[in-house]
Amino acid sequence: MQQQPHRATEHQILNPATGEVIATVPATTAAEVDTAVARATAAQRGWAAAAPADRARLLRRFALLVDEHIGELARLEVREAGHTLGNARWEAGNVRDLLDYAAGGVERLSGRQIPVADGLDVTFLEPLGVVGVIAPWNFPMPIAAWGTAPALAAGNAVLLKPAETTPLTALRLAELALAAGLPEHLFQVLPGAGDEAGDALVEHPGVAKIVFTGSTRVGKRIMAKCAARVKRVTLELGGKSPNIVFADADLERAAATAPMAFLDNAGQDCCARTRVLVQREVHDRFLELLAPAVESVVVGDPSDERTQMGPLISAAQLERVRSYVPDGAKGIRGSAPAGPGFWFPPTVLTDAAADSPVATDEVFGPVAVVLPFEDEDEAVRLANATDYGLSGSIWTRDVGRALRVSRAVAAGNLSVNSHSSVRYGTPFGGFKQSGLGRELGPDALAAFTETKNVFISTEA
Ligand code: NAD
Repeated sequence: MQQQPHRATEHQILNPATGEVIATVPATTAAEVDTAVARATAAQRGWAAAAPADRARLLRRFALLVDEHIGELARLEVREAGHTLGNARWEAGNVRDLLDYAAGGVERLSGRQIPVADGLDVTFLEPLGVVGVIAPWNFPMPIAAWGTAPALAAGNAVLLKPAETTPLTALRLAELALAAGLPEHLFQVLPGAGDEAGDALVEHPGVAKIVFTGSTRVGKRIMAKCAARVKRVTLELGGKSPNIVFADADLERAAATAPMAFLDNAGQDCCARTRVLVQREVHDRFLELLAPAVESVVVGDPSDERTQMGPLISAAQLERVRSYVPDGAKGIRGSAPAGPGFWFPPTVLTDAAADSPVATDEVFGPVAVVLPFEDEDEAVRLANATDYGLSGSIWTRDVGRALRVSRAVAAGNLSVNSHSSVRYGTPFGGFKQSGLGRELGPDALAAFTETKNVFISTEA
């Protein structure tokens, strides 16, 4: 008889700043996913049939309740994910904003009337049905809402599987949705293992689309499984984003902002600018400016208002990050608490080879490399020398160069003289192996619909 793989029936949730267990959450089984899909399917029918104004009103009420609970949600995120308090408040606010923005789209989700002979041709944007959202641990709240808010607004039900390590804010959001009056079972949170609850969502014939955010490795596997069913899929995957600093840039600002562009969320950010490309003639000056900026980043207790960087999510992540930084490697280092908890100091390697693993892999920790370049062509070549293509920054005072380089870098989200990547009102997603499809922005709701064309004959 074949041995069944051992499955955890529950997950212990740790505070990454202390390593202490703060909660135990049951792991959803494949059979429970089945039940959830059946319930969601029934709830979705009523939701899609409800008046658009009523659906919009309920989503706005959900947004309002999130707003009233920002402090509580933020504190929960500090405890389960080690995010700094300031970041966690922004993240809860982002959920509110996404719900509000999506609610505004419910009554504007119109099809088209297309001129044809002998009749009337109209399109309808039909909801897909039940959508599965699989979220990672690095931004548990915003990423859950990126998929959930527009999917609900477009008339779908949502089954959200949070990451094993960070289900608490998602579970709280589901309670707030119910309290706001959203129909029961329309939005369900299914905590559990990726290869059990997550896989069951991917494989389930009753789930019409998977919105996956996570590693490129798992994303590829999910895409292959979706292909077998021609299931719709959106993938938001990894990144190794460049921060390109030209000699004509405001070097002081570029150096002052470079640290938090890769240290925010302890570098566990798919948009982290971890490859700092600096034009050779200003390379040494830039490093002189960068060193104090990195060394002065405040790393510590994430619940302290002054803290800029907290711990890594887990012991495993800490080990992974450590493995990329050879002992004695030349560079700039900040400070970090000694422990307990999963701490790694801000680290900039100044002597790493452009093709070394630390310069090419997504480390997903507070580690960046600085690489010199000669001219615009080499900057673009280095920026594009990666399988990823998510984000990037370009620092220059030359408008023409800013536009040329923006067009030449193969990435979905670029910023000039800033490090902005994510706004709920603008599209977000990756080129190359950073992903497939776009989230957020004006077209977010349409991504959760099928276009149906109907021709009505006017022949007598
Ligand atoms: P991960 O791929 O290990 O897990 C992501 C989610 O997928 C989790 O909920 C996990 O339980 C689930 N999962 C794992 N195996 C599965 C399977 N076989 N079937 C179905 N679901 C499964 O990623 P992670 O380590 O949690 O997150 C970090 C990664 O996410 C990084 O690579 C980062 O770049 C990426 N990320 C990308 C974006 C983006 O928008 N592009 C945003 C945030 C994070």
